[in-house]
Amino acid sequence: MRVLVADDDAVFRRMAEALLSKWGYEVITCVDGAEALRILQGPEAPHLAVLDWVMPGLDGTQICREVRAQSGKPYTYILVLTAAKVEKENLIEGMDAGADDYLLKPYDAGELKARLQAGRRIVELQDQLIAARESLRTQATHDTLTGLWNRGAIIEFLHKEVERARRSSAPLSVAMADLDHFKQINDTRGHAVGDAVLRIAARRLMPCLRPYDSIGRYGGEEFLVVLPGCGEADAVATAERLRNSLGATPIETSAGPVPVTLSLGVASSPAGETGAGEDDLLRASDDALYQAKNGGRNRVAVAAKQDLPPRRAP
Ligand code: GH3
Ligand code: MG
Ligand code: MG
Repeated sequence: MRVLVADDDAVFRRMAEALLSKWGYEVITCVDGAEALRILQGPEAPHLAVLDWVMPGLDGTQICREVRAQSGKPYTYILVLTAAKVEKENLIEGMDAGADDYLLKPYDAGELKARLQAGRRIVELQDQLIAARESLRTQATHDTLTGLWNRGAIIEFLHKEVERARRSSAPLSVAMADLDHFKQINDTRGHAVGDAVLRIAARRLMPCLRPYDSIGRYGGEEFLVVLPGCGEADAVATAERLRNSLGATPIETSAGPVPVTLSLGVASSPAGETGAGEDDLLRASDDALYQAKNGGRNRVAVAAKQDLPPRRAP
């Protein structure tokens, strides 16, 4: 674990550096308060800090206050070192400012070690909590089989993009995509192969999109693609790219190569005509998908203009 040691006293600084390195910490040192704060606010900030209480630049109280004022960052455990004769109020002030613990100089090496371990446990606990929270967030918004956004998340994304398109009068398109004759794959090669096809199909579709597009698993073998800022022509081009990415070569599975094709229905709300809401776009793209299926599959169909509501007065 990385630790910041900030002390303007060279003897204490070197001693702390030597001890901490011996105990397996990766030590970063600095000699004044302003530098310490810069490091603790930086992108690679260590989560454990041993700060001398009185330093040139900023003192320990100011550093603690500034560090605690940052929001949205992982917790920094701060152990302050003070000269032995420091007044009690000073310490209370330090803890009030956000220090977690303190040691009087000169300190006993064993005590420093034990107190750092306590800090380390808190930092590690915090890391575990963040990882657990991230994992829950991923589970709540992603489809476990394909890793794409799940239905709830992609609809939420569409909702936000409809609002944004209305505000900025920008175009917005969606494509509803559905694997062709997927039931046959399950029936002839088994459900596990069907699952593998879905997983690999999702992996092929993702690189066809721009970073601000989104794709989610809308249903069993149905995907919803949201294309912000895309008019009809661009959306059709993207849909053709998606179609080709699947149809061009069979998907390799444990049961051999499986040819798969994709049908897509595109619906667009043009620039300046931002009346279409998410329900309108979903319904129109679904109708277009139905046409693509009826037209023979492995194709892109576009929603008729009259399927989308005209511009609404703002
Ligand atoms: P079409 O070309 O008209 O879309 O025909 P289709 O066979 O793809 O469509 P249909 O709706 O008849 O069948 C879809 C099948 O997808 C039925 C369902 O069992 C299967 N399916 C849905 N979700 C999953 C899944 O997670 N894994 C697997 N293996 N199959 C799934
Ligand atoms: Mg299908
Ligand atoms: Mg389907």
